[in-house]
Amino acid sequence: MNFVPSPETTTGETAPARPPSQSPFIPLDDLQKLVAPVTQRPVTLTHSDRIRAFEADIPQALRNPARIVAEPIAPANATTYGSKTLEEFAELKRREAAKILHPQEAEYVRYGTATSRRVEKKLAQLEGGEMALVFPSGMAAIEKVIDALIPNTTLQKAHFIVGTEGYRQTRNILERLVSRGWIELSVIPMDHFDRVQEHLKPNTAAIFFETPSNPYLRVIDVANVKRQVVESGSQALVVVDHTFASPLNQKPLEQGADLVVPSLTKYIGGNNQVLAGAVVGRKELVLRVFELRSQSAIARDDECRRIEEGLEDLAERIELHNRNGAHVAQLLARNPNVHQVWYPGHESHPDYEVAVKQMSGFGGVVTFRLKARDFHDVAAFTNAFVAASPEGTYIAPSFGGESPLISAVPIVSHFSQTVEERRARNIPDDLIRLSVGTVPPQQLTDALVAGFTALEQRQGPLHDGLR
Ligand code: PLP
Repeated sequence: MNFVPSPETTTGETAPARPPSQSPFIPLDDLQKLVAPVTQRPVTLTHSDRIRAFEADIPQALRNPARIVAEPIAPANATTYGSKTLEEFAELKRREAAKILHPQEAEYVRYGTATSRRVEKKLAQLEGGEMALVFPSGMAAIEKVIDALIPNTTLQKAHFIVGTEGYRQTRNILERLVSRGWIELSVIPMDHFDRVQEHLKPNTAAIFFETPSNPYLRVIDVANVKRQVVESGSQALVVVDHTFASPLNQKPLEQGADLVVPSLTKYIGGNNQVLAGAVVGRKELVLRVFELRSQSAIARDDECRRIEEGLEDLAERIELHNRNGAHVAQLLARNPNVHQVWYPGHESHPDYEVAVKQMSGFGGVVTFRLKARDFHDVAAFTNAFVAASPEGTYIAPSFGGESPLISAVPIVSHFSQTVEERRARNIPDDLIRLSVGTVPPQQLTDALVAGFTALEQRQGPLHDGLR
């Protein structure tokens, strides 16, 4: 064995310190000499220091576009970067430290890839924000946004405001944080967003809402919420879960929202094949979220490519969703087997006026209450609807895909809740949410006729409203 004992064990004396030249590590100063220095900034900044440094004043000389490297020096493979020589890699790090290159642009797949950055750029443009980040799911984005909004101080708990209506998993995250004693939460009726200033506290970190919301598609006036925050002198951020409208039907950032958080799983993915989410908004805020994403998870490259494909035909698909949504809302509104319909573009919707002011289209989700006596009536309707629909139509919880999806809300989304809990959340047993898809309108008419016919066969005819 080629074991060389250390000087200490042979002599029993402490060995003299090695001269610096024999150190197994190249001192950082020497490493920097491998490349021509362009800055005095140290390269030993922490990750967050580097992000902050990037945002700080960039010396004019370094802004020269000719010297800015937008892409990595050498791609090692599709998702991470490398170089053939250490000098080249050191150059990469030097550009990062000199703020020519953002850390997000260079280092490692979890911080971003060429594909994710391309998608993020497109999403930012579409939403009208400065910067976007993609996540492996809408919930992953929401969780990191909430985390980023909690101040780094234990002096005062952050206070969040949400509406009674909203995706239940978002509420679950916030309630978990409440139970740990980390935040305060106010859950306000949807009508109270008109006077949200009454709920603001000095420690309110964010007002977080969906518009339209789930399941009654309530439309919150984003500009009005922002105006109240500003007039109150509050620091609260306005954060919109922007899943139900799509960025083509509504632009909350232009109306004053500070951040939007869309689930890309729905309209943008577009065919029920994608699971992803995003956050978009002002760079300074999005960078706070970036820091947390760097320690967590980013949307995979193959998923980003599917999102890109979805973005390509989003405009055509949204037009079809809007057309079908309006068509189905009209049919349901005059059908005697239906108690009530909720569609933001229908005059009967409580927020119709806000919707017309704020949205350019009203989407492909329609919610309604069926005149059903029990779950068997509901099942007769949903099952016949699916059987008469094109292949790809299911009873399922999602929405925004090309094929219709129908959800008997108490069963599909609230199965684990007791009757009392469902009642408290305003989820009656006969509540149905229909994602109309992009199919020809006549197919939707036929499927609804089939559903109502099946219902009437159980109940006896009420009316032949659709035929
Ligand atoms: N926001 C809303 C309004 C949703 O409906 C959903 C999922 O259904 C999410 C967020 C979460 O998105 P994801 O399923 O991509 O995690």
